[in-house]
Amino acid sequence: MPTITLNIRFFPHHPQLLRQLGEEYIRVVNELTEQMEHQKSFPKLTTKHVNANLPSAVLNQAIRDARSVFKKMKKTGKRPILKKRVYFVNNQNYSIGKDIIAFPIMQNGAVEKTKFRAMITERDQKFLANAKLGLMRIVEKSGKWYAQVSIDVPVSEKDNEKVMGVDLGLKVPAVAVTSTGKTRFFGNGRMNKYIRRNYQEQRKKLGKLKKLSAIRKLNNKEHRVMTDINHKISRQIVNLAIQEEVSVIKLERLTNIRQTARTSRKNEKHLHTWSFYQLSKFIEYKAKLAGISVVYVNPKYTSQLCPQCGAKNKAKDRQYRCQDCGYTTHRDRVGALNIMSVPVMDGVA
Ligand SMILES: [Zn+2]
Repeated sequence: MPTITLNIRFFPHHPQLLRQLGEEYIRVVNELTEQMEHQKSFPKLTTKHVNANLPSAVLNQAIRDARSVFKKMKKTGKRPILKKRVYFVNNQNYSIGKDIIAFPIMQNGAVEKTKFRAMITERDQKFLANAKLGLMRIVEKSGKWYAQVSIDVPVSEKDNEKVMGVDLGLKVPAVAVTSTGKTRFFGNGRMNKYIRRNYQEQRKKLGKLKKLSAIRKLNNKEHRVMTDINHKISRQIVNLAIQEEVSVIKLERLTNIRQTARTSRKNEKHLHTWSFYQLSKFIEYKAKLAGISVVYVNPKYTSQLCPQCGAKNKAKDRQYRCQDCGYTTHRDRVGALNIMSVPVMDGVA
């Protein structure tokens, strides 16, 4: 099951208090590891052994953190020192509502589960509804507060089901990523572009001469060439799915392509919607014959979002690099990875 991190923005009334708690948290971790470095061992500890101004659930987490820092230290021989304020709450102690999160804080010596107004996107809600929740990490970034929740996302209804995400594009006609770890690029975007341009130029010439029936013939010919290419690509994609024993192929739903086309330089994509549509229909048809189901996911789950933590990043070169969590991969894989990991509920993603 892939683990992802949701970044939930929230709005504390008293950020200073959260900063103090974050300081306290790393103080506890740093002091414990320093102490255990001298002792050369990490004994069993409970919250009673540690003096800290933290709710016991959070203090428990700090002790656990100190233990894993200690283990790391034993491996590397160097004691890492936490510098960035942080505050961890385990899944027993926080809750997430529609536009609210709640977790325990220490205020005037008393523990209180406190509610905070939060921005929880539709995407987050969908993941939260369908996932096993992990730790919640409270951090401040450039004055903004985030609750980062790590969750295990089921790839599909069944845990053992193998899934393939397919991203269609112009530069690379199709990218497939499977939950078995395969990535494959299909088709030749540069050649397709050349073919299209060639037809366009011929059309322009004929247009000037007002040779309409010749234009129609040319259009049909272009259509046949592209159809042939789509047949080949869909065959290869479904063959990979069969080879990898994939039971679900996920594709982008194409109805929204026009929306993305307007806002981006993907306008060319819009012009070739029929070709994308045809390719997805071919994949769907061939997959069904092979007993593989096809589901369509919302196109918003693509190219810019980090497949690991969900942050939005723009790929600058061939490499995609997440500013938030440091995840890197080939930029053309990102879309397919995201399409693959969208949870599917009741057959609708
Ligand atoms: Zn990331």
